[in-house]
Amino acid sequence: MRIGHGYDAHRLVENKKLTLGGVTIPYEKGLEGHSDADALIHALCDALLGAMGLGDIGTYFPDTDPQYKDIDSRVLLEQVVELMIKNNYVLSNADMTILAQAPKMAGHIPAMKENLSHDLKVDADKINIKATTTEKMGHIGRGEGIAVHSVVLLDNI
Ligand code: MG
Repeated sequence: MRIGHGYDAHRLVENKKLTLGGVTIPYEKGLEGHSDADALIHALCDALLGAMGLGDIGTYFPDTDPQYKDIDSRVLLEQVVELMIKNNYVLSNADMTILAQAPKMAGHIPAMKENLSHDLKVDADKINIKATTTEKMGHIGRGEGIAVHSVVLLDNI
């Protein structure tokens, strides 16, 4: 078994979409980034790469590379899953926490889980996603951005 951790944060700005776990969430602001800024998928990819001992998302998909401009992060996740298959790893489980003062995430979590279980080729019960505010403390609490923590356990088969 191999454990991995990932963290990502993106700034909330006007005139951008808010996409987390491949789900576009209606909100007055969205996440800024070179790709679609899906912090949930980025944190998950970093956890998966970390568990495999393969560095991080920036190693594979540098934000200086124009081919990744505005890319759907699920495409990046697919490539990380290919690395898992190549290295004989399957996901045992993943646990993720979204830190966001707003909007409310609960109603969108089932769709995020469905996307991720499809992309990771595992049952949805192997993926847990939860969300918390920071009780208005700090940059997250002021609504300046959204952050995500991810922990995964991989089985070597
Ligand atoms: Mg990111």
